Amino acid sequence: MHVAIVGGGIVGLASAYYLAERGATVTVYEKGSIGSGSTERSVGGIRAQFSTPVNVELSLASMEIWEDFEETFGVDIAYRRPGYLFAARDEATAEAFEAQVAMQNELGVPSELLAPDEAAEHCPGLQTDEFVSATYSPTDGFADPHLALQGFAESAREAGAEIRTRTGVTEIHRAGDEVTGITAEGEPCEYDFVVNAAGPWAQQVARMADVDLPVAPKRRQMLVVDPETPVPEDVPLTIDLDTGSHFRPEREGKALVGGHFPSAESGGEADPDQNPDGFDRKIDLDWAVEAIERAGDCATYFGPDSEIRRGWAGLYAVTPDHHPVIEETLPGFVNAVGFSGHGFQHAPATGQIVAELVLDGASSLVDVSALASDRFETGELVEERNVA
Ligand SMILES: Cc1cc2nc3c(=O)[nH]c(=O)nc-3n(C[C@H](O)[C@H](O)[C@H](O)COP(=O)(O)OP(=O)(O)OC[C@H]3O[C@@H](n4cnc5c(N)ncnc54)[C@H](O)[C@@H]3O)c2cc1C
Repeated sequence: MHVAIVGGGIVGLASAYYLAERGATVTVYEKGSIGSGSTERSVGGIRAQFSTPVNVELSLASMEIWEDFEETFGVDIAYRRPGYLFAARDEATAEAFEAQVAMQNELGVPSELLAPDEAAEHCPGLQTDEFVSATYSPTDGFADPHLALQGFAESAREAGAEIRTRTGVTEIHRAGDEVTGITAEGEPCEYDFVVNAAGPWAQQVARMADVDLPVAPKRRQMLVVDPETPVPEDVPLTIDLDTGSHFRPEREGKALVGGHFPSAESGGEADPDQNPDGFDRKIDLDWAVEAIERAGDCATYFGPDSEIRRGWAGLYAVTPDHHPVIEETLPGFVNAVGFSGHGFQHAPATGQIVAELVLDGASSLVDVSALASDRFETGELVEERNVA
């Protein structure tokens, strides 16, 4: 089985590894260098506290791989698990938490519903008066995306995959409904399967096969902050869900601070048709000020003497319901796209599912029928509420 993968981010390289490991002949085409899309801009969050069963299942299947990553791939990915804490200001959000925790527990996630005072036992700086409820799960955490990407890339190569960097795919060939190959750097090549793992460029790549997928590149920013009061390393990744503000501890008391605030997101909403290569990689100052202020509204660490060390912007690949498309869209054309800010953590499960779709014709690891692209036509969307 000859497979071309378009995109050398974590989704493409995890797919390459699982396909090659199962005997497929794999070539990864990456127009830049590996990880040069969203993967190297991710903060590496890994959690099972999602609001829909399919996202929870993608997380649980992925966590099995993350837990044994060093043993399997020989790379220490700095996987730490101080948990994730979601905090609610509004009663409606708190009500939704109850149903979510029940669903998560049923699927085996050890999450719990907490009163603000109980939440402060995990995050001592939490501004408890601001919140009505929280959820916490001790098995959530984060890892280093760069190291994880290297682990998948190296193991994919060892399993026989070829990774061609600086080699953009410009055409996808069809014979009737069937996808039969690609053209890269002017050279046409036939393949049994083409996998679209092009992250924020996914819509452009799908269009090469005359397939329209609603995957929009959306700019998101992060700050490295020296907080006024150092953030202890055992504080969870904390999300103030009703404002969108979030932070997590970094080493030596520093913190990563982010959030999506439409009011301050100047130049933020990249148009779906805009070329994702053209986005502004610099931090917007108004946004940075708002991000620190909102983090301060959430937790006492971020007083007025907090200092910004640096920051960066990257792209989420967002679908209308914040779930990916994982399917064989046409015979010979698999899409694994639109991860809406969760693609780093869901890559291990996705790679295995892509291998199953290509080699077995269906996925047994996770039921991905809810992630078919025809949901955008039928309106059967599966809305994810826990989005940061
Ligand atoms: C600020 C920020 C924070 C984030 N935090 C988290 C987090 O905490 N947890 C989490 O799970 N996710 C997070 N994400 C999201 C995560 O980074 C992405 O979901 C994930 O990296 C997607 O991986 P990918 O392989 O699909 O895409 P990418 O890493 O973008 O890879 C796609 C690749 O395709 C290549 N490509 C595109 N077109 C072509 C072509 N025509 N030919 C050849 N190659 C092509 C691109 O160059 C790119 O390298 C974050 C993202 C950002 C921006």
